Amino acid sequence: MNLEGKVALITGAGSGIGEGIARRFVEDGAKIVMVGRRKEKLEEVAATFPPGSAKVCQGDVSIPEDILRIVEETLEFGDGKIDVLVNNAGINVPGGVAEIALEDWKTIFDVNLNGPFLLMREVIPHMKAAGGGSIVNIASIGGLRCLSQRVGYCTTKAALIMMSKQAARDYGVDNIRVNAVCPGFVLTEMTEEHFGGLTEDAFIGAPMQRGAMPEEIAGICSYLASDDASYTTGSVITVDGGATVVDPFEIGIMGAARNK
Ligand code: NAD
Repeated sequence: MNLEGKVALITGAGSGIGEGIARRFVEDGAKIVMVGRRKEKLEEVAATFPPGSAKVCQGDVSIPEDILRIVEETLEFGDGKIDVLVNNAGINVPGGVAEIALEDWKTIFDVNLNGPFLLMREVIPHMKAAGGGSIVNIASIGGLRCLSQRVGYCTTKAALIMMSKQAARDYGVDNIRVNAVCPGFVLTEMTEEHFGGLTEDAFIGAPMQRGAMPEEIAGICSYLASDDASYTTGSVITVDGGATVVDPFEIGIMGAARNK
């Protein structure tokens, strides 16, 4: 129970990786506030938790007024403190620079980057006053290297990684730790929508030759939120089954067969 006594705010907690993190945090003893746009989804998940361990807070991280209310409700639920913030809510939209609709470009910045920015901005003063805290930003390996026709996604995730490092730099002195987690391919609604119907062959060039389940991302988030990670800040941690260690030329030139 390494999160016993901690109050955590988790965005996008109604499905996928966020739901996995919510489940793990409750299991590990945290009290959590689950934020998302779909109330029913959040309530469905919260209903499976012990009474008093989770609060549902419907809200959109791209709306500044919602951010203020989310933080207020979390402080209320957490008896005046927020120990952990997990910025997990995110979207993906297709298109390269020449194809992405301008509206989509703005929306993805609002959700993937400005949402975490606004939440950190509101939460950090409370963490400072309480003597510290932990912020976990869910970025992506798309923030470390390019994905075909996903300029909005990769650009916002790269910026989220740098914002995490910058905040680690600025608030380490306040005992506020900020880390970025970069998942690889995780089986969720997002990947179903964008890459649905993948067969096993799609993973053949990846060292572990499979996608991850959401709960496989949750463990590292629980660790980063906990006091076990008391000296870990400014880190960018890949959880990608080794996908980023593969040289594309190895797959291209020698063929996937070499990986077997
Ligand atoms: P998902 O679509 O299952 O979950 C995202 C959640 O965020 C949903 O519950 C959605 O309703 C919520 N959300 C979206 N926009 C929101 C908004 N404006 N305000 C509040 N909530 C909002 O997808 P997922 O795969 O679980 O993604 C979670 C995070 O992990 C995202 O930031 C995503 O970029 C990142 N990620 C996912 C993968 C993957 O392979 N699935 C890989 C790397 C990173």
